[in-house]
Amino acid sequence: MLKKLKKVLIANRGEIALRVLRACREMGIATVAVHSEADKDSLHVKLADESVCIGPAASAASYLNIPAIIAAAEVTRAEAIHPGYGFLAENANFAEQVEQSGFVFIGPRADTIRLMGDKVSAKKAMIEAGVPCVPGSDGALPEEPEEIVKIAKKVGFPVIIKASGGGGGRGMRVVEQPEELLKAVEMTKAEAEAAFGNPMVYMERYLQRPRHVEIQVLADEHGNAIYLGERDCSMQRRHQKIIEEAPAPFVSAKERAKIGEACVAACKRIGYRGAGTFEFLYENGEFFFIEMNTRVQVEHPITELVSGVDIVQEQLRIAAGLPLQYQQKDIVLKGHAFECRINAEDPYSFIPSPGVIDSCHLPGGLGVRVDSHIYQGYRIPPNYDSLIGKICVKGNTREAAVAKMLVALNELTITGIKTNTPLHIELFNDEGFVKGGTSIHYLEHWLAKRKEAQQGKK
Ligand code: ADP
Repeated sequence: MLKKLKKVLIANRGEIALRVLRACREMGIATVAVHSEADKDSLHVKLADESVCIGPAASAASYLNIPAIIAAAEVTRAEAIHPGYGFLAENANFAEQVEQSGFVFIGPRADTIRLMGDKVSAKKAMIEAGVPCVPGSDGALPEEPEEIVKIAKKVGFPVIIKASGGGGGRGMRVVEQPEELLKAVEMTKAEAEAAFGNPMVYMERYLQRPRHVEIQVLADEHGNAIYLGERDCSMQRRHQKIIEEAPAPFVSAKERAKIGEACVAACKRIGYRGAGTFEFLYENGEFFFIEMNTRVQVEHPITELVSGVDIVQEQLRIAAGLPLQYQQKDIVLKGHAFECRINAEDPYSFIPSPGVIDSCHLPGGLGVRVDSHIYQGYRIPPNYDSLIGKICVKGNTREAAVAKMLVALNELTITGIKTNTPLHIELFNDEGFVKGGTSIHYLEHWLAKRKEAQQGKK
């Protein structure tokens, strides 16, 4: 047990609430689950030592309700709050209020979240720290049209206009031709103002066929930081990742060490604390920073599988003020891991499919890890995102991991609702994907082709 951390409140739901709960329990830490009225039968509520209902189904009234969450921590005398991912995990005001109320926020300091949450300030900090960034405007775009045109000429078309306050793949616009530029800047600004309350936009060169490769880091309050290798998350639909793997195919040990060390240096420079991810676009052997996620990510298990490090336990230790248990030389990556995100949705139309799970069989066996909160009879509420679990596998080689994932996916049986499992099975049988190294556009093109083929059949 950790001296400074005896009880943790988990301000989240679903599989990640369960993931955090398990880590706490393994370390002898008591857990408090908070939940909405729609989640009263959720597994994290049933398994936690204590639970508190914090509001109705709508996230704004429950999982995003800061006063209710802090009140729940007070009532249950928890010492710390783990935000999971999504919801309030990257909300600097939440982190601040948690700490001002006398609790430990399991994550970075509020000012770090703020710095990295604003993409213009994050990029500036990364450039200063020597992390390679996508070439573009130095900071926010100026007002003067002539200046904007000048910057675009220097960057080179196509360019992408991005909102400084943007997130979740929103607030971005690609500009192919110079004559479209000023209109696109105006439109992105207006959208950014409406969606994020911040009209600031910046410009980057639009990379044509990059891959999404990200570096996992851990940093403590004693000035230590390490990287746990990279993940390739290029298989995306509408900027949402659906399959991830570690390590990234065709990234050499030398490249890994170089970019990993740059991330570690950046962590030390900004005084980073906790688990974090530096996201890059990777093209022709070069890394370009796009943003940092200041929290644990959905896809963290594949890094755990190849590194042997329990990232959530490390988060808890760091929050308790302990130094990292590992030095960089202790991190040896072994084998190859994949994650498939299982969503409750139609595998063709992607329309969400909430409802009651009539029966469910989850795969198992050596090297198979399932993180899921579903069970037979569980009703998936329509109010939240459609992720119902993650199937992860680890093999000694990438080829072995592909074979293992196919066995696991074929064993997975969920009835009563639709899931995207058939899509995953098709992808793990797809020659292009199985070869590895696909770009961020691969899945969208593949889906478009699949649709055409289906329409041809009709
Ligand atoms: P968000 O915070 O909304 O996820 P990101 O900056 O991480 O925004 O970008 C999301 C996705 O948009 C990237 O994974 C990539 O697919 C695409 N993208 C962003 N910037 C560029 C760029 N400069 N060139 C090409 N694609 C980009």
